[in-house]
Amino acid sequence: MISHDILVVGGGLAGLAAALNSDPALSVAVVSKVHPLRSHSVAAQGGINAPLGNNPDAKDDTWEKHAFDTIKGSDYLADQDSAEMMCRLAAPTIYQLDTLGVPFSRFPGGVIAQRPFGGAGFPRTCYAADRTGLVILHTLYEHSIRKNVQFYNEWFVTKLVVDDGKCLGVVVYDLASGEIIPVKARAVIFATGGYGRVYLKTTNAFINHGSGIGIAYRAGVPLQDLEFVQFHPTSLFGKNILITEGARGEGGYLVNNQGKRFMEDYAPVALELAPRDIVARAIQTEVDEGRGYEKEYVHLDLRHIGAEKIKKRLPGIREICHNFASLDPIDTPIPIQPAQHYSMGGIDVDESCASTVEGFFAAGECACVSVHGANRLGGNSLLDTVVFGKVAGEEASRRMKNLSGSKKAEKLLQDEVVKLKSRITAWQSRDSGIKVHRLLDRLKNIMSDRVGIFRNKKELAAALQEIAMVRDDYKEAYISGDCLRYSQELVNIIEFASMLDLAEVITLGGFNREETRGSHFRTDFPKRNDKDWLKHTMVKYEGGKPCISYADVKIDKYEPKERKY
Ligand SMILES: Cc1cc2nc3c(=O)[nH]c(=O)nc-3n(C[C@H](O)[C@H](O)[C@H](O)COP(=O)(O)OP(=O)(O)OC[C@H]3O[C@@H](n4cnc5c(N)ncnc54)[C@H](O)[C@@H]3O)c2cc1C
Repeated sequence: MISHDILVVGGGLAGLAAALNSDPALSVAVVSKVHPLRSHSVAAQGGINAPLGNNPDAKDDTWEKHAFDTIKGSDYLADQDSAEMMCRLAAPTIYQLDTLGVPFSRFPGGVIAQRPFGGAGFPRTCYAADRTGLVILHTLYEHSIRKNVQFYNEWFVTKLVVDDGKCLGVVVYDLASGEIIPVKARAVIFATGGYGRVYLKTTNAFINHGSGIGIAYRAGVPLQDLEFVQFHPTSLFGKNILITEGARGEGGYLVNNQGKRFMEDYAPVALELAPRDIVARAIQTEVDEGRGYEKEYVHLDLRHIGAEKIKKRLPGIREICHNFASLDPIDTPIPIQPAQHYSMGGIDVDESCASTVEGFFAAGECACVSVHGANRLGGNSLLDTVVFGKVAGEEASRRMKNLSGSKKAEKLLQDEVVKLKSRITAWQSRDSGIKVHRLLDRLKNIMSDRVGIFRNKKELAAALQEIAMVRDDYKEAYISGDCLRYSQELVNIIEFASMLDLAEVITLGGFNREETRGSHFRTDFPKRNDKDWLKHTMVKYEGGKPCISYADVKIDKYEPKERKY
């Protein structure tokens, strides 16, 4: 049986940071359902935050101010010790990436360039034009190859095997061979990214189904704060491809159909650079109240920025506009609308990325160390992936020495292989029923229509009922044909179980949380309520259903205050 000391699931930034920082004396491998360079991290555009103070307007920046902005941005739901840790490690992390060879954009004189981003008191977002994720991912991948990290590409993890509170390994579907393979590991780190595709309108890649979060949940690991879903204000209308916040950071205006820069009505000081929850709601309100275009979108106007700056700092955005909307932002405003973008919640882990299951860790977007709380600031996710990916690799290496490995592991892993094979046979042997892509369409519509930017009790209750109906119909799902090589149908039918779970947990958390906080806006409870709701939602899979409990938020030196921008 294939066996490793540390098995990292996910080849995005968090996964590669974990693998690179694991003890080189151990046997470390990375499993990824796509080639690592196709992970969603490659699409990150705008940048990564650190208080370097390189921008002439940011001389007084410090990690404490970065932590304050992060915690205020989170609507005070972030655990303050974790947020402080991330911000303290931000500058050393950027210098490390620089040393590894990440080609950051530079200011004249050679220091790393920094641009303003939403919700930040100082311009502290480091970038490589508008292709920041691409260059960091490629750099970390090159170092992983140099260090002989073993990769299993196009291996799709279907199950986390846990026995008696201990993680034993995973079961994998190898797409190329069609085989189901058990992999034993003394420590497993999930770095499986977000679940954007649970929504109809999302900036996320087609691979972002959130199966890792769902798999951990079914293995008994609690999930935290899943109801906090980030909607990015500016996705290209109709296609929902991201138009980076960097476009507003470089000075872009948001304009309604009356030619007005409407953000002055919502965030009079920060304007277009208010945090994402506030800007997304403002855009949606303009559209809902008839001040949008075609009842769907508003304009992001970059024309006044000038051709030179657009070509130099936003070349990827110009290319996207050209290829997908046949327009040039140098002379035409970009039609934009909000779309699902990021998951603040995820697998519950502490600041050492350890979960409640021994030997199981998580980092990156799939995890909830709780640094983003109810709303993440732009540029803080890339930072989260690299900082906590490293922590996960180091901690798993350290703790692994005390993990004995289980004698039963091989048998239990083999049992799970047999179970999956028999489920596959059952799906194949049915020659009629429902195709899972039809169920997926239904689920996405429910989530976008009823669990979106504005929520209320009636819609959330209806969503829960409809999700249950889709779950019922999922029993009738089948796959056609016998060939298991590169069977996207097989991947989809397995992942759909996780998507159903996530949709349910997101909606249930939102239904119960009778307040408005960060990205979770309840029209029937439009105020934040610290007295009853300054707490984390924890959801555990128990007795075949989600069981909710609540946990305290860790408050350090930043007392919760009303957020004003
Ligand atoms: C378009 C876009 C632009 C963004 N821009 C920025 C930005 O400028 N700044 C910023 O801070 N944040 C940005 N973000 C957010 C940020 O990019 C992501 O949150 C972050 O890159 C996630 O990294 P990750 O390593 O956690 O996961 P990912 O990069 O998504 O990688 C997940 C990995 O898990 C693997 N995987 C998943 N499920 C399985 C499974 N079941 N079996 C095997 N493998 C599996 C995948 O193959 C993949 O390798 C952006 C996000 C998007 C969508």
